Amino acid sequence: MKGPTPRRLFRYVTGCLRLRPYLVDPGDGRPQPQIPARALLWALLITRLLREPSFHGVEQLVRSSVCRALCVSAAFGDDALGYFTERLEAASTRAALLHAVRLAKRNKAFDDCGFVGLAIDGTSAGRSAQRGCELCRPFRNAEKQVSGYRHHFVAISVVGAGLSLPFDAEPYGPGDSEYAAGQRLLARAVKGLGVRFARYLVVDGEFATAPFLHAADRAGLSVVARLKGNLPELLAAVEKRFATQPPTRVYRDGKDRVEIWDAGDFDPWETLHWETVRVARYRQHKPDGSVVQAEWFTNLTTKKVGSLALYHMAKSRWEIENQGFNDAKNRYGIEHICHHQANSVLLNWLITLLAVVIERLYRIRYLHRGRHPLRSAEQLCRLLWLALSRPSAPDSS
Ligand SMILES: [Zn+2]
Repeated sequence: MKGPTPRRLFRYVTGCLRLRPYLVDPGDGRPQPQIPARALLWALLITRLLREPSFHGVEQLVRSSVCRALCVSAAFGDDALGYFTERLEAASTRAALLHAVRLAKRNKAFDDCGFVGLAIDGTSAGRSAQRGCELCRPFRNAEKQVSGYRHHFVAISVVGAGLSLPFDAEPYGPGDSEYAAGQRLLARAVKGLGVRFARYLVVDGEFATAPFLHAADRAGLSVVARLKGNLPELLAAVEKRFATQPPTRVYRDGKDRVEIWDAGDFDPWETLHWETVRVARYRQHKPDGSVVQAEWFTNLTTKKVGSLALYHMAKSRWEIENQGFNDAKNRYGIEHICHHQANSVLLNWLITLLAVVIERLYRIRYLHRGRHPLRSAEQLCRLLWLALSRPSAPDSS
């Protein structure tokens, strides 16, 4: 197989991923566009994968001799990207992300584990000294004075399936909350994916509230949630019971020894409309002697999901943190504010997530066919840059 190039990646996106209709018509809101939306949008996607997060950097690349090798049909300035993303509707990019994730499942891109999960979590992205748009939330120093502004969003990712695909983001500005944004995101994601797409939803402790859990019930998803100090009565009951009991099961997870306490008959707190609450505590002994302990609760029954599977579901929460937020920030610059306007900020996040999804499906599933070793994200990025330095063949597409 020939090595990866921006042109081959473009063909993969329009052919295999069937995203040509989206690239041609991505919900462009400009009244009289001079530069085709496809050129602007593809330029944003391919330059994310080249790890160039700023609009100014995109301008430099498309105005250079590599414009054609990038498969970008027109050169333009950074102001054109600002104008475009201010007016680009979020719904089309969200639909493109959903399409890619559903296609991945149809094409059996996920491990045959039977437990495809979804994770929801919030993060901050993009700081500024001045308030620049309506999504800016003030943050305060120890003296309670406003010392700057930050953006926040909640994201959702496919987890537990051997391929983390973060596929939607919901911003929350001042007066809104992580947890309200999480409910909107969950409802939209499940409507888009269908109830049978995922087996469970995994969330951290701040989402472990009755209204959020009931929203998951309405969406037809079982929940695995971290049990923390915000549920003191349940936590006290768990401590009282498990402290005096030997572990229910002991497993090996790689080099670690994992003890699990698991009981399905805890009482729900007053506002939670579940019949009972199942709680699992895991204590993971690492070879260096360190111990990690955490408690999780769920409405999945022991009959449906055993202790070890539940432990792996709980652990899959880290995917949204590591393969979601950390990669999006460290590799693709999702925290960079390209153009400080609310819609542009949101579209920047969504386009970055789409770039991440395209990169993973291309690198981990498409390029990895046959006997090719799996390339790292760094290797793919380097190969794409090297391809730009070669004289390109005449454009036949
Ligand atoms: Zn802002």
